[in-house]
Amino acid sequence: MADFHIVTIFPDFFRGPLDHGIVRRARESGLVRISIHDLRAFTTDKHRTVDDRPFGGGEGMVLKPEPLFRCVESLDVAPRHERVKQGSRTESVILLSPQGELFTQALAQELGALKRIVLICGRYEGVDERVAEGLADGEVSIGDYVLSGGELGAAVIVDAVARLIPGALGNKASAEQESFTAARNPPREGSNSIDAGPDSTCASGGLLDYPHYTRPAEFRGMMAPEVLIGGNHEQIRKWRRRKALEKTLRNRPDLLSREKLNEEDQRLLAELSAKNRD
Ligand code: SAH
Repeated sequence: MADFHIVTIFPDFFRGPLDHGIVRRARESGLVRISIHDLRAFTTDKHRTVDDRPFGGGEGMVLKPEPLFRCVESLDVAPRHERVKQGSRTESVILLSPQGELFTQALAQELGALKRIVLICGRYEGVDERVAEGLADGEVSIGDYVLSGGELGAAVIVDAVARLIPGALGNKASAEQESFTAARNPPREGSNSIDAGPDSTCASGGLLDYPHYTRPAEFRGMMAPEVLIGGNHEQIRKWRRRKALEKTLRNRPDLLSREKLNEEDQRLLAELSAKNRD
């Protein structure tokens, strides 16, 4: 069970995004719990003030530390020094921030192993730095761009983590063969290393996913690839690996350098690179 807590000044923001498909089913079957906490409920003044002007001057407003500390402490999470201890981590308090560690599938997998995740959504110019230093155990960014608040980021993290909780996806193999996902058993040449059948023999191994097709075989003059319809598992596996490499080379060559490619991959990649040079 993954227990998510989202701290926000816009609790209504989450009506909708987490109420569909896999995340909804995971919530309904008790695999995932999502609690939304209204930051204003943790203020003590008449105006329910959550922000203030920045020390040192400058644009905009900054979220004040007191309501954020009060809110997170009310959730009964372990003290920060215990949370950050390596090895025994079961809880994490994360501040959404463009200055944070980049959110990746690997981080989603790491978070999926935790029992409780608190996500703090910033707004305005950001959050008093003492929240990053003394309350959160990490800052996480969902990409190199600036959003107007942490809420979309929190929804992204909940979605990506929730679907990795065992039982959330109908088919366990689905989570193993997706883009960015390092295979537990990297596919060897000519082997069905994960499961039987062509669909599950092509774990992405950290590459982008291969292209998918469904019926009709011909649509507006565009044909689904013959090889997929043919049903030769070994040919399908090879074709998918080649396509995954091709797309990764085109759109995300940075992923290739990080991965250990097997001989077959390297051969395919050399062919593809040669073709691109022509
Ligand atoms: N002044 C800050 C941006 C503040 S944006 C800066 O330049 O770095 C307001 C809030 O939106 C942030 O506190 C954070 O919670 C959220 N946010 C904006 N972009 C984000 C991103 N890429 N990832 C995660 N959270 C983000």
